[in-house]
Amino acid sequence: MPSKSAASSLPAVKISRRGAKRLQDGHVWVYRSDIVSADGVAPGTAVGITDERGKFLGTALYSSASQIAIRMISPHPVEDLGRLLRERVQGAISYRERVVRDTDAYRVIFSEADFLPGLIVDRYNDLLSLQALTQAMDAEPVRKVIVAELRGRLKPAAIAERVDPRIRELEQLPPRPSGLIQRDMQDEIQPERTSTIFTMNGVRFHYEALEGQKTGAFLDQRENYAAAARYAQGEALDVFCYQGGFALHLAQSCSKVTGVDSSRPALEVADRNAELNGRDIEWVEANAFDLLRDYADAGHRYDTIVLDPPAFAKSKANLETALRGYKELNLRALKMLRPGGILVSCCCSYHVSPAQYREVVGDSARDVHRNLRIVENRGQAKDHPILLNVPETEYLKCIIAYVSN
Ligand code: SAH
Repeated sequence: MPSKSAASSLPAVKISRRGAKRLQDGHVWVYRSDIVSADGVAPGTAVGITDERGKFLGTALYSSASQIAIRMISPHPVEDLGRLLRERVQGAISYRERVVRDTDAYRVIFSEADFLPGLIVDRYNDLLSLQALTQAMDAEPVRKVIVAELRGRLKPAAIAERVDPRIRELEQLPPRPSGLIQRDMQDEIQPERTSTIFTMNGVRFHYEALEGQKTGAFLDQRENYAAAARYAQGEALDVFCYQGGFALHLAQSCSKVTGVDSSRPALEVADRNAELNGRDIEWVEANAFDLLRDYADAGHRYDTIVLDPPAFAKSKANLETALRGYKELNLRALKMLRPGGILVSCCCSYHVSPAQYREVVGDSARDVHRNLRIVENRGQAKDHPILLNVPETEYLKCIIAYVSN
């Protein structure tokens, strides 16, 4: 039997002084190396956290496998986890009602930043997409409560679960395919749909929750798309365009738009999206690094260039290589921008800080002897809130700058 924590009937996990200090500093994670004892605690359960002297520090969700062993959910003893989860889901939904505009696609639940660590829920019009990233969020009773609350509040046509096999392995959860989350009373309701069309800033996109090529947007860029479109003009190049998020927005104000990506399936959806919006956009399947070099050598010039690469720095270990990659992209883009042109330069690596990224862009400008004036220093959209004291929740950088000479 696991021991109970003094202040609650929850199984107790004792953490080191260093772990306790981390919580005092406002973070919500405790690493495995700071667990002093978790005897007999079942994987994925709610636990009472105490310091080495037995003082109660709060309630957390426990993982027996992840390096992040503890994710705090409350500074108080939680006796009714179901109620807490329902309140958190409601809180996340009300927050979006306050901050989300001009879209029917947004992140409904952003894990730690919504006090539901390990849970991601995105909405695409009438479909929901759910990801459970921890043992606790994958536990059947927890899923049931969350799914019921989401259905009750948002009335989706269907909820699809997106499974990342790598994460299930890390959490030592049995493999499971992606699929629709079944309803309890299937009979009364219409058959579930897995595709829809969603709209952001007046631009329409196809969404397929499951079949064939999975689609889905980078919802965190939604406000940056609108901002980029406000400054964009002339001939535009969207590098790493995926399904055309920036390109379709640029097409609202630019005379010609070219989107570049190395993924053919992404470009196929991009093309369908262009058609859906009645836009004529040129899609080029290429390695962005090669293409930027070739186009620069060939003397191509643009008035607007967007750079939105995948995260190059997956860990601190490859930060230097990643920074070189970002610099190279910015250098090449800056060489091709006409005077008065606009650079939209994004970086979604958490390991690169906003200050570091600005330095990379600044270094690039210096190397090619161009002056850049930042008109907007942006980050992730408001439905991906940044929880202060939990630095991992802040990851997206988006610099919009004018090239002056
Ligand atoms: N700007 C997009 C999101 C980009 S995600 C949006 O707003 O929706 C990163 C994209 O980079 C993916 O579509 C991926 O296929 C593409 N990619 C990754 N490496 C690449 C490379 N070397 N050259 C071109 N595209 C690449």
